[in-house]
Amino acid sequence: MIKLSRRRALLGALCGALVLVPAAGGWAYSRSEPRPSAAPPAASAAALPAAASPAAASPAPSSPSTPEIGVTSAMPAPAPSLGAPVGWKLSDIPAFPPAPAPEPITLPPGDKSPFLSRIPVTQPVAFLTIDDGYLKSPEAVKLFAAARIPVTLFLTTDAIQDNVPFFDQLRGYGAVIEAHTISHPELSGRSPDFQKHQICDGADRLGQWYGRRPVLFRPPFGDKDSTTLRVAHECGLKAAFLWKETVDKGKVRYQEGKKVQPGDIILMHFRPAFVKDFIAALQAIHRAGLTPALLENYVPA
Ligand SMILES: [Zn+2]
Repeated sequence: MIKLSRRRALLGALCGALVLVPAAGGWAYSRSEPRPSAAPPAASAAALPAAASPAAASPAPSSPSTPEIGVTSAMPAPAPSLGAPVGWKLSDIPAFPPAPAPEPITLPPGDKSPFLSRIPVTQPVAFLTIDDGYLKSPEAVKLFAAARIPVTLFLTTDAIQDNVPFFDQLRGYGAVIEAHTISHPELSGRSPDFQKHQICDGADRLGQWYGRRPVLFRPPFGDKDSTTLRVAHECGLKAAFLWKETVDKGKVRYQEGKKVQPGDIILMHFRPAFVKDFIAALQAIHRAGLTPALLENYVPA
């Protein structure tokens, strides 16, 4: 079992812990989130083991992102080569029916990406999203392999550059990688050039690493201004996302009511409680009579 450094684990925990502080009447975000230390210069694609990243070897952005969506297995299945689950068991993972054929929404015209926290659907689906990527738990791979559900990962390039192949592994089990800046800064109020670098160059970097350039975006802390949405639109990120539920330390917090509603976007992070959070998210979706669907399939290409 890989022992993660205390510092990195702490960073992940802090990042996660400080991201979501729902406050009465609005959102409160900490402005004091510790940055990942001055990261070394962006790891170039060349510096990464190409063999470890099959996607990087494929030419052009491969056909849409959809890794076998709609074929969600009816029953969680073990993945023997990954080793036995640690801290969870297969029966913790609910069995979902396959996601229905997606009904893409219509995006509003204009020069800004829309900002959404729920997808207007008529179908019994919900969307799980997992952010940042500081902590890379081996259990995450096993959970993804067992659950085989569509998940969208909004990844910060500084957070993942020390282990790019880890997230490629998750792609193999149904994850799609989207953009979440280079260094996870507060974007609101910053110059267009600053935001462009963080948003567009971050997306470019993910495209180089994984062979598919992101098409969706989540601003750090869910915080943005009109420049953010214009810049995201300009560099090909078709929509930006907030959320309706958050999961932390195994507990689901709801903005509205006490259950996941159809079309809800659920947010969790790659944090120390990943196992508990992932299972809590899936069980909440299951309790609500919903099935996980892929966000990318609901945003028109
Ligand atoms: Zn984040």
